[in-house]
Amino acid sequence: MATSAPQLSRRQVFKSGLMLLVSAGLPFLADSETVFAEEYATDDFIVPPLPYAYDALEPAIDAKTMQLHHDKHFAAYTAKLNTALKSLGEKISPTGDALRSLLAQLSKVKDPGLRAAIRNNGGGYLNHKMFFESMTPKSKGEPSGAILEKITEQYGTFEDFKNAFTTAATTLFGSGFVWLVKEKSGKLAIRQYKNQDHPCMDNDGSVALLGCDVWEHAYYLKYMNKRPDYVSAWWTVVNWGEVNRRFEAA
Ligand code: MN
Repeated sequence: MATSAPQLSRRQVFKSGLMLLVSAGLPFLADSETVFAEEYATDDFIVPPLPYAYDALEPAIDAKTMQLHHDKHFAAYTAKLNTALKSLGEKISPTGDALRSLLAQLSKVKDPGLRAAIRNNGGGYLNHKMFFESMTPKSKGEPSGAILEKITEQYGTFEDFKNAFTTAATTLFGSGFVWLVKEKSGKLAIRQYKNQDHPCMDNDGSVALLGCDVWEHAYYLKYMNKRPDYVSAWWTVVNWGEVNRRFEAA
């Protein structure tokens, strides 16, 4: 637990700084998510501190996997995204909205190498930022409130929804993410994404609500080839409060 204490307090310090900025009425780009780089007064995208200890999600996800996943993989996507954006010749502010907007119009990036770098690392940034925020050691294991109502309206029961999502996560061939999205029509959908693609790249007005990372780096140390066991354990750490917040903000 000791590993998280400084991170948590650092995050809280930045959060209070954010509240001061907001209450001072300074220009502030509101984002539906938390802790983008504007809080850090930097032009670069930053890796937000993990909002819980590395070992907080055990036994579902082990501390070593969390540490490597957050501090190495997520950090690498972030660093490579910042490098790619410097070659773009266009200022992209380090906010979720600006990044989603760029990723929704990737075809406008003419250089194929740069386009691929922004796609892979920009998608990697959003996927991981949202992935880590949508887990918590305090998970209730099932949703409540508005998202539960919508899930039961569309899928019958939470178990039926969970089965459909799990099937998508276990049948995705190779590396990728499975996302629950809210479509422009208001309907929910479960979608499979290859590599680091992210729902905003569909550019169809759908909003990402809950994503499960099924890259082997997300589970191989503990689960080895048993992806279904990892997905089953992941359900026990889903932060449904965060998913509800995304749903209601969408
Ligand atoms: Mn990952």
